[in-house]
Order: sequence, then structure tokens, then C-alpha cells
Amino acid sequence: MPRLSMPIAASFPFGTACSTESPAEAARLVPMAAGQRVDPTTSVPQSPPIVIDHQDPPMDASMPAARQSCNLCGCTDARIVSMRDRDRRPLRTVMCTGCGLVRCDPIPDTAMLDQYYREHYRIDYKRQSAPSRRHILRAGRVALDRLSRLPAVSAQSPLGGRALDIGAGGGEFAYLLGRTTGLAVTGIEPNEGYAAHARQAFGLDLVVSSLHDAAPAGGSFDLITMFHVLEHLRDPGAALAQVAAWLAPGGLAVVEVPNVEATCQAPGHLFHAAHLYNFNAPALERMGQKVGLAPVACWFSDDQGNLSITLRRPVADAPLVALATASALSMPSNAARVWQVRSGHTPWRHRATLQPATRALRRIAGRIGETVALQRLPSDPRAMLDRLCDGWQAPVAGQRAF
Ligand SMILES: [Zn+2]
Repeated sequence: MPRLSMPIAASFPFGTACSTESPAEAARLVPMAAGQRVDPTTSVPQSPPIVIDHQDPPMDASMPAARQSCNLCGCTDARIVSMRDRDRRPLRTVMCTGCGLVRCDPIPDTAMLDQYYREHYRIDYKRQSAPSRRHILRAGRVALDRLSRLPAVSAQSPLGGRALDIGAGGGEFAYLLGRTTGLAVTGIEPNEGYAAHARQAFGLDLVVSSLHDAAPAGGSFDLITMFHVLEHLRDPGAALAQVAAWLAPGGLAVVEVPNVEATCQAPGHLFHAAHLYNFNAPALERMGQKVGLAPVACWFSDDQGNLSITLRRPVADAPLVALATASALSMPSNAARVWQVRSGHTPWRHRATLQPATRALRRIAGRIGETVALQRLPSDPRAMLDRLCDGWQAPVAGQRAF
């Protein structure tokens, strides 16, 4: 029986892992066929694989899609988008024809996902149970880039008080958020190794928990951030409802996910067993509206590979008004749009662009730049981020400080 499995060996990240992993690291991370061994050249001890079973019974393209209803609009009709993940292993991905939300089909169960993220995800992604210096540097730079967008966000609703970073990973963003804004930052991180590192290295207040079991102390938050988390969750609608409940009146949520409309990567490199859902901007905004949060800003990375939306909870005394009806949630035109983008992005068209070559060159240049920077930066994680932050506060125009 064909199955997808994740090699055991370490940790989860909500958050920064996806957005900071190098393509080379990403290419190694994913599902392995049951029984397949971990690469013996890595330093990770081998252990039996934990299976994330997307296909029991085995499925093929001739079988009807949509064994589950859509998490956004409830529609049960879907079209098959892909039968392979980015490593060419079996993974069926479908698109809801009612709204354009893309998902794995079927979705693995909650217990399996919780165990995987608690114990194994980080090693699958990074081959390590705590962040390396290179990871800290990369995550620190990404965090500063995200922080550079906060002024625009806070112009919509001034920040103050308390913040929550869901999927805090190694704690780089949470630490820098607190350092640069003065907010009291709490984090949720399901992986024990990364959470322990974040506490020790940065003195962060972190809860080790999956999102659906978390109960951060202190009540409401003025800002909640969730970078590259939502696509990993079995019930993203419930997760956003939880975020809405934790926000203070007028509070903001910043949610970043991979963009399913992206064409910066080869078409066969898009889908991933750990990404249970794939969003475009209208689907993500509508999911926020479904739980009563109003979209106030939308941002795309330079290569369009990531999208981020800012959602606001209504001000004091205004109730959360959710879009509850199927007609309000239905977006067939968005489904047509997603289908057109995905079906139009063919391998030949991708190769005809300069993107494969420019991505490869950027990757090599980035790696070299990191190696040089690491020789100049302190070894201590907090001192490294402090140095990055000092350079970020007074950057030389057109250059990185490091
Ligand atoms: Zn739908």
C-alpha cells in the first residue's frame, strides 16, 4: 500500500521553518516511502519512520475527489490538482470548486499530526532538533524583514501591550518583536527542542503546545502573528477562530502562508505532504471573514511565493460577526482563477522563463553571503540577533548590514 511517511528524528515548527529554509534543505525534508532510510550522510540518527498517511486506501486520479468537505465553504465538490508532491512521491491534492481552497485529500488525523510536529518536523525540515547558527542568522533576517512591515500594520491600529507569536520556532521573531516594539511577547511552539532553545537563548515566555490545545496565560493580545503555520493545520478555520477569540478588541493578526498562485518554483515543486492546505489571497481573506476578522492589508513577497494578510478584530463592544452562510463563503470565480493559474503554469512555460537560473544563482549567492556573515557575527544567539538588529535600525541604503 503506497504511503507517505516522515522520517523520525526531531521537531516542529509552526512558523519560521518554511519561510527560512533553503531550497536545498527543503528538498531533503519531505515524505519518504515507508521503510525508506534516512540519508546516511546526515548526522541525524536513524529511527523508524512515523507515517503521515494521506492515502489509506491508496488513491489514484480516477477516484472521485473530496472525501471531506471544504474547510472554508463546506462544498464537497473538488478537482484534482496534482497526484505528486515536490519529491515526486504520491500525494493527492485537490481544489474546492466552491471557493478555490486547495488541500491534501484526504487530510491525516489529528493525533498523527500532533505527534509529528511535536517530535519530528524540525528534523525533517532542518535535520536538527535545535537551530543551527545559519538557521538563526536566516531566521533573524526574515524576522527583521517582517518587522519592517509592522509600521504599516500598526498605522491601521496602534500596537501596544501584549503580543503572541504562534509557531515561534527558535524564537528569533518573538525576541526581535519584543526588542524593537516593547511589546510583552508570548509564544506557542509545539516542538520541545526548539522551544527549549528559545527559552534558553532568548529568555522567552513560550508555551510548548499544539495550537488547538494551547491556553496562553493573560487573556487577550493586541497583536498575534502566525507565519507559515496555517497551511500545516488540519482545521485552519478553527485555528483562525481561536486567534479571533484571543485578540483584544481592535487587535491585529498577521498571517503568512505560501501563495498557491506562485509561479516562482517549478510546477512539480509546489505541493508538500506537511502543507495540508494551500491558499491564495482571496481564500485566506475569506477565511478570516468567516470568523469575524476584517482584512486590512495584504502583502506578497518579491517572488510572489508567500502572501501575508493582516486581519483586525472589531473594536470594543462590537461583536465578532462571522460569515456563516454557504452563499457568503462561496467564491466559484476564485476557484476558476486558481485553476487557471495552476493549469497554466506548465513545466515548459516555467523553463522558458529565467526563474530557474535566477533562483539557483540567488541560492548560491545567499549561501556564500551567510557563510561570510557568520564568520563576523557573535556565536551567542542573542548577541547575534542584537547585532543584526543594530544594523537593521541604521541600515546602509541598498545593502545588508551583515
Ligand atoms: Zn471551498
